[in-house]
Amino acid sequence: MIDKFGREINYLRISVTDRCNLRCKYCMPEEGFSNLIPHDEILSFEEIISLAEAAAKIGITKIRLTGGEPLIRRNIVELISRMSAIEGIKEIGITTNGVLLAKMAEDLKKAGVTRVNISLDTLDPDKYREITRGGDLSKVLAGIEAAKKAGLTPIKINCVALGGFNDDEFSKFIEMTREEDVIIRFIELMPIGAADVGEGYGFVSNQEIIDSHPDLIPLGEDKNSVAVNYKLPGAKGEVGFISALSNHFCAQCNKIRLTSDGKIKPCLHSNEEIDMKPALAEGSPDGVVKALAESVGHKIEHHLLNEGAAPIERDMNKIGG
Ligand code: SAM
Ligand code: SF4
Repeated sequence: MIDKFGREINYLRISVTDRCNLRCKYCMPEEGFSNLIPHDEILSFEEIISLAEAAAKIGITKIRLTGGEPLIRRNIVELISRMSAIEGIKEIGITTNGVLLAKMAEDLKKAGVTRVNISLDTLDPDKYREITRGGDLSKVLAGIEAAKKAGLTPIKINCVALGGFNDDEFSKFIEMTREEDVIIRFIELMPIGAADVGEGYGFVSNQEIIDSHPDLIPLGEDKNSVAVNYKLPGAKGEVGFISALSNHFCAQCNKIRLTSDGKIKPCLHSNEEIDMKPALAEGSPDGVVKALAESVGHKIEHHLLNEGAAPIERDMNKIGG
């Protein structure tokens, strides 16, 4: 479907849960349990499938599952199998912290997952435990290997640039791409939810990282994402940069987001949400298609974060990134 600014909207990101098995300091508040969405408000599989079917009817071809942590949603593999059978859905990606991937990679691939993005902000086990409030780095590294073995490639590794925390590791991440066929993607820290209430990490713009690595060769924009990609000479992998703040990519935005409690967020950086539950409750597939199509009409031309717009109230674990 083409929106009123001429953008083709073909990508739906679905948050299947706001729960997580980690507590990253820039994403979730420490007392993350206290403000979780009540279980009875979380969309059922039937509701998610109805929305995915409606999405396919308005021209969505790509779905990405996210969370919280999507792999902790019970029977997620079954949900993916059902989703991949929907006519018109050509790609199903997952954004995961990778902790459960070693166990699940093969099943995910069989169920129809085509791509996996794994979040990893540090290669140091102690720092990993600190930033995730208790996570075990070795599980994520095993998850990355399992994903490679299952053929969930190309593997993208998402690294949030956190000034004063991992800025001493950027070169190590970039060097990793010489021998490993992975795409390391640096993501600028966004002032959303927990990150906005001051965990004290400095903002590092992607341009600073690019400038301090002059050997990176630009490859241009990634057709499948909002990243701009680079490569070290002769490297097997690539390095991508996602610059939501310093260089917003709203003109190429092809996406809508569905929260786990059934709200469409037409723009990540806006508090506007459109509730899909009334249409779901009516039980008419055409009504769901209509509600979804109308939500696309709410996409704004570009976000106003750099112009002092109101802070985003939802924590990132309730949006999904
Ligand atoms: N749990 C999964 C994971 O960590 O990949 C999926 C959900 S997580 C919210 C999705 C992505 O959002 C992760 O790559 C995470 O690093 C990123 N993220 C969370 N809070 C962020 C923030 N304040 N600024 C930038 N990226 C953020
Ligand atoms: Fe969980 Fe992902 Fe948020 Fe970390 S970034 S707390 S893994 S949802």
